[in-house]
This record gives sequence, C-alpha cells and structure tokens, in this order.
Amino acid sequence: MVAELISVGTEILMGNIVNTNAAYLSRKLAQIGVSVYYQSTVGDNKERLAQAMKQAIFRADVVILSGGLGPTKDDVTKEVAAEVLGRTMSLDERTMERIREYFVRVKKDTITENNWKQAMVPEGAIILDNHNGTAPGIIMEEKNTTVILLPGPPNELTLMFEESVLPYLQKDEKKVLYSRMVKVCGIGESQAETMIQDLIDSQSNPTIAPYAKTGEVHFRITALASTKEEGRALVKPVVEELKKRFKKAVYTTKEEVTLEEKLVKMLKKRGLTMSTAESCTGGMIAAKLVNVSGVSEVFRSGAVTYANEAKMQLLGVKKKTLRKYGAVSAQTAEEMAIGAAMNQDTDVAVAVTGIAGPDGGTKEKPVGLVYIGCYVCGQVNVYECHFTGTREKIRESTTIMALNLIRLMLLKEG
Ligand code: ATP
Repeated sequence: MVAELISVGTEILMGNIVNTNAAYLSRKLAQIGVSVYYQSTVGDNKERLAQAMKQAIFRADVVILSGGLGPTKDDVTKEVAAEVLGRTMSLDERTMERIREYFVRVKKDTITENNWKQAMVPEGAIILDNHNGTAPGIIMEEKNTTVILLPGPPNELTLMFEESVLPYLQKDEKKVLYSRMVKVCGIGESQAETMIQDLIDSQSNPTIAPYAKTGEVHFRITALASTKEEGRALVKPVVEELKKRFKKAVYTTKEEVTLEEKLVKMLKKRGLTMSTAESCTGGMIAAKLVNVSGVSEVFRSGAVTYANEAKMQLLGVKKKTLRKYGAVSAQTAEEMAIGAAMNQDTDVAVAVTGIAGPDGGTKEKPVGLVYIGCYVCGQVNVYECHFTGTREKIRESTTIMALNLIRLMLLKEG
C-alpha cells in the first residue's frame, strides 16, 4: 500500500509551525508497512489544494490530509476534498451532537454558528470521532483511492489516528507486523549503514530501517507475517547477524531500553557505584543517569567543575597539570576521573573536558575536541574525541560517548 500526505496550512509554509504531523504520520505508516512516496504542504488556498489532491489521488492508494478542518473561512480542506471527489455535503446529526457534548465537557462558551460548519460532511463518508476537539475526521472511499481528512492540532490528529485510522488501514490485513530494534552506539551513522548495506539492500521481509540519533544508530527490523511466531522467526536471524557484525557496539535489542538504562543495569549487576565530573557537558551526563528510575542504588554524585579552581578544589586536579597541559587535555581528564572516584569513593567515574564552541578553539585545540576520562575499579583510560556540530550537539555527543565508553570498559572488565 502506498500513502501520500498533504499537510494543509499557510502557517506551515511560512515556517511559523513545524510540520510534526507529517513526521508522525510517516513514522506510524512505516511501522505498519505502508510506504510514503510523497509528502507535500499546501497553504489555505482552494485551487492549489485541489491540484495537490488530484495529483495525490492519481498516484497513491491512500491520501491523508491534515489541517484545515476548523470552523473558519480559511479552513477549506473538507470542501475542496468533497468537490474534487464530486460529493455533496450535508449536516451530520451525530457530529452536531458530539460538538454540543464537547462544548459542555470542556466548558467552552457558546457554540457559534460557524461551529456547525464542522458538522457538514461529504455524502457517503465514514466519520471519525474527535475526542480532543470538534472537527471530525473523514474517510472517503473511492474506486482506486481512499482519502482521509484529519484535524491539524497534533493532540487531535494523533489520538484519532491511533484510535480510528490505524485499525481502518489494517482492517483487511490478516497479517501481523513484528519488529525488533538493534541499538548501536560508538559507530557513526554512515559507517554503521555501510557495514550492513548488503543486508539492507537484499532484505525485503524483514526490512531493516536505520534511524540516526546523536551518537547512536538504531535499526528497526520489521517482518510481515501470518502469526507473531512466524514474525519472530523471520526477524531473529537478522537480529543475530547484526549483533555479529556490530559486536559490542550493540547495547540492546529492546526498543524501550536506553543507553543510560543499560549502563545503570550493568552497574547494578556488578554492584558498582559511579560518580561524574563534568566540564563542557555541565551536568548532562549526570542528568541522563538520573533519568533512570532506581539509579540512586549506583549513582553517588555529579560535579560540574567548569573553572580550573573547581577542578582543583573539588577533584584534586593539580595546578601543575592545568598549567602544563591545559584544562582541555588528557592529563586533566585523567586527574578529574581519579579525583571524582576518590572524593566520592565510587568504583566508577567518568570525567569530560573539552571545547564545545563556537568560540574558544585554537589550531592545536579546535572546537569539538573532548577528552573523556574513564575510571573503572582502579583502571583509568582517557579517550580523545573530535565532535562536530553546534555547541549543543557537541555536548550531547560527548554525553553519549562518555556513557558508552564506561559501558565498554565494564564489558571488558567482565
Ligand atoms: P481547528 O479545528 O483547531 O481549526 P484544523 O484542522 O483547522 O483545526 P489548522 O487550523 O490547520 O487545523 O491548525 C490548527 C493548529 O494545529 C495550528 O495552529 C497548529 O498549531 C497545529 N497544526 C496544524 N497542522 C500541523 C502540522 N502539520 N504539524 C504540527 N502542528 C500542526
């Protein structure tokens, strides 16, 4: 099945709002095996919308439009869709009742005349209830295409999609979708993809879809099968092959598990405690760890030591080291990691010091240079990393890398 998305709204074209609906719909459709070949955005303009719709109807099995179902004059999606499909509009009693109920439920003021515009529906349409607003969703089945209209506000659209559109799209589907996730950390996106390009190219069932995240690449392996068991059997060898190729870079094959959760679990299993000492990340590593429920069992404290004085006072970094090698150096990172472990009496400590930019870089120490010191049960390793991107991106990449390096050291230690 091929779907096409049309987002309606001048606000989107002007860049006033970000088109999160299209991203959400594409993601959801991919998960159920529906391909999206085209997405377009059209302003609140009847002619251009009609043109975009005709083109989409011609080339897709399902056309999903979002937005422009409101009560005002510039909301034209429903009228244009009815016109393009040659359907007349009439007042739907049930929708009127629902709008009335909605106004009572949310204690909105009086219903104005133009609200009844939302109760007008094209003939023969399937009406979808809107539990977060007043505009109903509309499904119109044609000979070769189905046209689906959804309201623009994301909370209305997502609920309606999950509740009504997903079951509708899957109603004739006797098959089930089974998917697993392989999460890889420490290998760049293009390298990771290249390492399994042959599999991506040759697999059609299951399919392998890569998702690039900061510092991580996730691969979703999805099989279409008659039963869940059959799906599992199709997916399993591919997951095993990915684990074989990426080795220790795979930190989980469970969709819900994050890198910090994995690390906390490993620390708990080994009965180890951890502390952090952060310069350029300013507490981001500690914040990630604290995301994990039950982390108090392993996480003792996090020091944000931005100034040289703080590095000396709180972590015991030597003045001589700072003077000779600088704050951004392997030596400082090493002393920070040891200092954090000693001061907090933890088995594990991670320390980062780097140049997040955009200012402050030199030829010898450019923006993106970060040293990560990892202390695990008496052993210290320092890693020199070079990240690119904005200040925020560099700090995020550092955070992920730091968590991952500790994970890898723990794996090595056994
Ligand atoms: P309403 O009944 O609220 O008028 P509508 O179906 O007419 O809904 P729009 O008027 O097009 O929807 O959009 C209403 C609001 O929904 C926008 O101001 C915006 O905040 C949000 N919205 C619309 N389209 C999108 C989109 N594609 N992505 C994210 N948000 C959107």
